[in-house]
Amino acid sequence: MESALLKFVNIDGDHGKKIMPQPHDEFHNPQAATFDSLSFADRVKQIEHDLSPDERTTLLSFVLLCSCGTPENSSFYEFLHWWALCNHSYQYCIEYLIKYKFRGGQSSFAIKFFEEACSTGNLSYAFSSPVASVSNEANSVHITTRDGQTFSGARMISTIPLNVLNTVAFSPPLTNEKRAAADIGHVNKCAKVHAEVRNPELRSWTGVTYPNNKLLYSIADGTTPAGNTHLVAFGADYNHLTPEKDIEETKKAVQAMVDVDIHRLVNLTPNPALSHMIKETTTDVNNPNRSSTTGPTMNSPKVHGSYHPFPPEQAKPKSPSHHPFN
Ligand SMILES: Cc1cc2nc3c(=O)[nH]c(=O)nc-3n(C[C@H](O)[C@H](O)[C@H](O)COP(=O)(O)OP(=O)(O)OC[C@H]3O[C@@H](n4cnc5c(N)ncnc54)[C@H](O)[C@@H]3O)c2cc1C
Repeated sequence: MESALLKFVNIDGDHGKKIMPQPHDEFHNPQAATFDSLSFADRVKQIEHDLSPDERTTLLSFVLLCSCGTPENSSFYEFLHWWALCNHSYQYCIEYLIKYKFRGGQSSFAIKFFEEACSTGNLSYAFSSPVASVSNEANSVHITTRDGQTFSGARMISTIPLNVLNTVAFSPPLTNEKRAAADIGHVNKCAKVHAEVRNPELRSWTGVTYPNNKLLYSIADGTTPAGNTHLVAFGADYNHLTPEKDIEETKKAVQAMVDVDIHRLVNLTPNPALSHMIKETTTDVNNPNRSSTTGPTMNSPKVHGSYHPFPPEQAKPKSPSHHPFN
């Protein structure tokens, strides 16, 4: 894996350090922008004479785990940026991206904020109320939901994800740049599957599969109270898996990565914001009739939030003040 990634990012003889020395100032070296015209597929083509079959497999499984798109629609520049943010090293990719997590999961973090806000007595809230339109006037903002409820306030903060932004009518309209960015969208179509397996020997296991399996990368990251190993596995838009729709296919994809005795599968969809809104499909594989799905799933029109890996040609700034995603 490491040797393949080092070849992938070595566009400057220094594994990306010269091209993107300062990840928080992406265009510190203006040459960095030129790599936004390359997709993952383009970059692999440039180095394929130098890749062994194993390196090709591990490389594509890892970079697709990062973009969750396809080799053709993922920007090489975006990966260079991730790489720079991870100290230009695979070891730090694992340290920063995967290793550490909250004991109670990411949702516990959001729930604490929510509980604190509720405890002030000053918070009112509405869930399951998709916004249809936003009207921004001189001293107030008015919102209408798809089912006709209206809300008003002095200010509004919108966290509507990029890929659904254009389903909301804004008055005055969003800038052309913002609408164009939303039309293009981001490419992340991640599938994330947690598997509790009765294989304690896999506690330190990591595996990759490419190109034939619907899950690309899996890592064992803990032991459950029952003594089982917890695996987390990722799929991308490439060879797309929809776990909440096809549990048999999902089991097959997990077992194609490693021969395991599955006790339980959990598919978490994005935005685990609040406990009663957590969207998960839990399947007792010994009794599939006991599967349950709560909340919207990956295919719900409401759920398209994610980290934002872009297709090629989107990151390059026209000028510092005209970045298309500012
Ligand atoms: C499968 C998967 C696995 C992931 N795993 C990880 C991980 O392990 N670690 C990590 O750090 N990140 C992970 N991410 C990324 C992380 O979930 C996202 O980066 C984060 O949730 C993005 O937050 P957000 O607020 O932008 O969007 P979201 O969390 O999606 O929130 C947007 C909200 O807007 C709501 N909404 C949409 N349309 C409307 C509308 N018209 N009106 C009102 N509300 C609307 C949605 O229902 C949603 O609640 C994962 C993403 C995916 C898809």
